[in-house]
Order: sequence, then structure tokens, then C-alpha cells
Amino acid sequence: MNVMLLGPPGAGKGTQAAHIVALLGIPHISTGDAFRLAIREQSVLGVRAKEFVDQGLLVPDEITIGIVFERCEKEDCAHGFLLDGFPRTIAQAQALDAWLHKRHTQLDHVVQLHVDTDILIERITGRIVCASCGATYHRHFAPTRTAGVCDACGGVVMSRADDAKEKVVVRLQEYEEKTAPLIEYYRERHILRTIDGKRSKEEVAAQLDALFVCSAP
Ligand code: ADP
Ligand code: ADP
Ligand code: ZN
Repeated sequence: MNVMLLGPPGAGKGTQAAHIVALLGIPHISTGDAFRLAIREQSVLGVRAKEFVDQGLLVPDEITIGIVFERCEKEDCAHGFLLDGFPRTIAQAQALDAWLHKRHTQLDHVVQLHVDTDILIERITGRIVCASCGATYHRHFAPTRTAGVCDACGGVVMSRADDAKEKVVVRLQEYEEKTAPLIEYYRERHILRTIDGKRSKEEVAAQLDALFVCSAP
């Protein structure tokens, strides 16, 4: 099954991706994680992506499309994948459709996490992530057991540079302008499933359980 998570920054895509991966047993493909790793490693891709990520802007389509399809070609994606944060533009969505079509497959579900802007800002500005393993926490809603220390690996937990308020404003603008049109794009294709993302992590996960149980073959 091929699934995509669609929603603005802070909607809970990464958080719920872990749940979907456990539920469906498909690999998690996060363009944000891929860019952050490349930036840490200072690879050619990382150097190209950094100037955009740092400003809160979308990385150009040709760079983004290249890394996603390279990942999707891997053996573990043979029975499907979960896309988190891709596509984010109509051009990316069209490229994905063409890639899937060529392989005689399609996107089965686009799960839209719907969350109001005031809640998004509260979530993003309180987000903390592990510098070593990328695990995500929240200062108030999902704190680590020991302040500043990752529960999973003992690494250092800190804010993401692009989660600063002024960058968040830019990212939300980018979302409205370039990504929100995908809602209509996928509604027209009858694969859009809208979930109320405002609720607790567990309540959102329960909505996903219901969606995937109902859609099982
Ligand atoms: P995205 O990947 O869409 O940007 P994340 O999954 O990283 O979003 O979540 C953003 C922040 O909000 C994180 O700090 C996360 O711990 C927190 N969070 C995620 N889901 C919820 C929820 N349902 N209720 C409260 N906080 C949440
Ligand atoms: P969030 O969902 O919280 O905004 P991500 O971790 O998904 O954060 O993305 C972080 C950054 O990586 C984005 O602000 C953007 O610069 C870049 N990025 C991620 N996915 C894409 C994409 N599909 N197209 C272009 N840029 C992307
Ligand atoms: Zn960690």
C-alpha cells in the first residue's frame, strides 16, 4: 500500500508516521529527515538544500524529486511506502503520479491532518528533537523523561533552527501557497482522507486505525 501524509508544518505527520509504519509495516520516507541528514553530513545534496531549509523555504523540485525516487527504488519499498512531507508542490505530485504509473501502481491514500494555525504554532515552537536519532518530543505535550536527554538513545535534545518563530511564518506561507493546492488535487482523484489532527496523539492514531481497518482489502 502506498500512503502519503499531507499537512502543514507541526500537524503531526512525523508523530503519526511512526504509528502508520507499525500498523502497515511499510517504510517511512521523510524528505525533511533526508534533508537534515544530508545537511549534517555536508554532502553535495546537503549543501544545496541547506540554504533553502535554513530560510524555511521549499527546496527546489528537481532536487527533492531526485532524492525521493532514489529512495523509492530500494528493495524495502517493493510492497509500498509511507511518504511524509512529499509531495509538497503540484509539480512534485505530477512527478510522483508519473513515477507510480510507470510501475503500474498508484497512491492508495492521502491522509490529510487538519489542524488550525494557532495550534500549529504552539506545537512547532515547543518541538524538540534528538540531534542523534531524530526522535521528536514536545516541551509540554510530549516531554522527555529527563530534560534535554533523548528517551530512545540518550542523545541531546534541542529545538530545530527552522522552528524559530520567524521561520515558522515563512514555512506556513510556503505551505499555503505551494502545498495546500494538493488538497484539491487529491480530492479530485478520490484518495483524500481527512483526519482531525487537533486531538491528542492517541485520538489521532485511533482515527488512522479506523481508516486503515475500513480500507483493508
Ligand atoms: P510534523 O511532522 O507534521 O511537522 P510533528 O509530528 O513533528 O509534526 O509534531 C509537531 C510537534 O507537535 C512535536 O513536538 C510533537 O511532539 C507535537 N505533537 C504531535 N502530535 C501532537 C498531538 N496530537 N497533540 C499535541 N502535540 C503533538
Ligand atoms: P515540517 O513538516 O515540520 O515543515 P519537514 O521536516 O517535513 O518539516 O521539512 C523541513 C524542511 O525540509 C522544509 O521546510 C523544506 O525546506 C524541506 N522540505 C521537506 N520536504 C520538502 C519537499 N517535499 N519539497 C521541498 N522542500 C522540502
Ligand atoms: Zn535519540
